[in-house]
Amino acid sequence: MTATRSDHHVSLHGLSPNAVKVCQSLQQAGYQAYIVGGGVRDSLLEAKPKDFDVATDATPEQVRQVFRSSRIIGRRFKIVHVRFGREIIEVTTFRGSHQTGKPHNAVQSEQGLLLRDNVYGDLESDALRRDFTINALYYDPISETLIDFTHGLEDIKSRTLRIIGNASDRYREDPVRMLRAARFAAKLAFKLEPATAQPILSLGELLDHIPAARLFEEVLKLMLGGSATATYNSLREYNLLTHLFPGATPLINDSEFNQKMIELVCVNTDKRIRQGKRVTPAFIFAVFLWLPLQAEIKRLLAEGMKIGDARNAAVASVISQQLTRTSIPKRFTLPMRDIWYLQHVLATRPGKRCFGALEHQRFRAAYDFLLLREDAGEDFNGAGRWWTEFQFADEAHQQTMVEALNTQQTSNKPKRKPRRRKPKKDHSTHDNSPPPASD
Ligand code: ATP
Ligand code: MG
Repeated sequence: MTATRSDHHVSLHGLSPNAVKVCQSLQQAGYQAYIVGGGVRDSLLEAKPKDFDVATDATPEQVRQVFRSSRIIGRRFKIVHVRFGREIIEVTTFRGSHQTGKPHNAVQSEQGLLLRDNVYGDLESDALRRDFTINALYYDPISETLIDFTHGLEDIKSRTLRIIGNASDRYREDPVRMLRAARFAAKLAFKLEPATAQPILSLGELLDHIPAARLFEEVLKLMLGGSATATYNSLREYNLLTHLFPGATPLINDSEFNQKMIELVCVNTDKRIRQGKRVTPAFIFAVFLWLPLQAEIKRLLAEGMKIGDARNAAVASVISQQLTRTSIPKRFTLPMRDIWYLQHVLATRPGKRCFGALEHQRFRAAYDFLLLREDAGEDFNGAGRWWTEFQFADEAHQQTMVEALNTQQTSNKPKRKPRRRKPKKDHSTHDNSPPPASD
């Protein structure tokens, strides 16, 4: 495939000075070097780029020789990370089409999935193997020239997301491009060009062959990019959510509460990001998996299992099922379990044990989770408000609050004659048995 190249003189602002330095140094060493991808796209849209990528005709080894503070990393492709303090500029060597490259460097599965893609190429072939036209604009910050092989600039102007080449083939090569389509359309408020959108509904299943670790990374980009709400709607529109959260997706429409929980976690995440507050994937996963968790507990109780056992079994099975789709590092599954475990304590406020809950390192997240449940329509007798007051009260006031709770709870309790038989267990869906120790 050949394409017409058009050059434009453009002076781009908001570029990383380090990305410019990388281009300068490579050009001084005799190589071609351009800023490409999101850095150029977002600068043209006058948005703040997340990171900067540089494309060059130097091989990774040659790039290494130009920058002392650099290293080659070999995920799916060999790329070089050039470090400037906390900023990393990713430098990739022009890649070619796998069809024209040396056969042993590119490997494709029977479904068309690109298994290995390390064929070097020239600038034009590099542009054509990129995903969307708006991501294939090259900027030379020294001559201030924008190079466009795929009419990406026109698409930026008309806010159109268009895949390069045949959409089905490109999604088969790398199904993650479908998630990227949903993400960019949502984040940039671009419309998907019809031929780019059309195959997604029928090819979503190809995502089931993508390694769980890569899908976890994609979920982070989808949910933590500042546009979780729009992205979630876009994922649902293209029927992709079910390939990321197969347990939760069919339950979302089951109740208003379920819909609300998911909507609220997206809205709150976006808001926190806007306010520069910390967001953790543990919270987001805890919300999405809360739906199948409750359904599974209900199912096990109906089978006659005791609440504590049902809860532990459900936590284990919901997490292990999710792990077959997206990995979730232990540093996130452990807080998820704590958030879930603390729900019963926060909802029931069991007297003096409230102090222990407040000390728990995951109190804050669990409290936010309780508020989310209340906002979504659950009623815990004002527990959310109570905890809001309790956590900021001085010790004396906290004591008074807990004592008031005790009298309130004792006076609310129905008087029972002492029984010799063991009392029946509470069959509510939440209990306070500790979570199992491992995944
Ligand atoms: P952002 O960093 O804001 O999420 P980006 O477009 O920079 O967006 P990156 O994942 O950083 O996305 O990738 C950099 C560039 O590499 C993209 O702009 C695109 O040109 C190319 N690229 C990334 N992933 C793919 C893919 N799966 N298939 C083809 N090209 C890709
Ligand atoms: Mg980027």
